[in-house]
Amino acid sequence: MRDLVEVAPGVHVATSAVYTTTSTVVVGADGSCLVIDPAVTAPEVDGLAAAIADRGWAPVAVWSTHAHWDHVLDGPRLAHLPRWADGATGTDRETLAAERDADGELARAGEAPAPIAAPATGYPRRSPGVLAWPGRTVHVLTHSAHAHPHTALLVADVGVLVAGDMLSDVEIPLLDLSSDDPVGDYRAALDLLESADARVVVPGHGRAGGADELRRRLAADRAYLWALEDGAETDDDRRALPWAAAAHAAQREAVGR
Ligand SMILES: [Zn+2]
Repeated sequence: MRDLVEVAPGVHVATSAVYTTTSTVVVGADGSCLVIDPAVTAPEVDGLAAAIADRGWAPVAVWSTHAHWDHVLDGPRLAHLPRWADGATGTDRETLAAERDADGELARAGEAPAPIAAPATGYPRRSPGVLAWPGRTVHVLTHSAHAHPHTALLVADVGVLVAGDMLSDVEIPLLDLSSDDPVGDYRAALDLLESADARVVVPGHGRAGGADELRRRLAADRAYLWALEDGAETDDDRRALPWAAAAHAAQREAVGR
């Protein structure tokens, strides 16, 4: 895990070498903080927890944007915290651990995998879609693209959208092919995320970007979906990595006309 980088006041992002996975820490004025998607290897999760402790921040809970193995990881220094998410995930810990252990990219990292956390228990609400916690106002945006359910968090005062596995500069849109309408779900989610009118986007994999970059990614993702449905070739270079090329081929097979 690389160092924490402050992408907006009080919003810090650490990035793993594995899948360029991001972990985000949202810090309130009193030092209480929310830890979003801690990842990926055991040393990285421990390092993130140590960095939080070194800064004197007090974690209140761990948020999981969605229940894929790389977004529900845990560590001994985080295990006492509540796990928050919007809705039940449906995938049990053994299945998630098996998916983690079968992952080639993680194996290449050569470090111990982080354990899978206990299932999330929902989240406390100040009002519908707004997190109740001691820190700043955080809106929860729930949709069904990529996984069901999937959430993004909007840190309202600084306009930071912590997007989970959406709006990446390094990954093509990865659809939830178990859905009845994976492309429709994805388009609806892009509309929802656009409506948040964020000034900074933090994808679950890739680099943070500003408002122009957010607009560029929304357009690129919509163009990818149109090409996918039309069976047209795409020149989206985010499908270049072998695993992304395989996902692209599977998506064309599933939803192409
Ligand atoms: Zn995912």
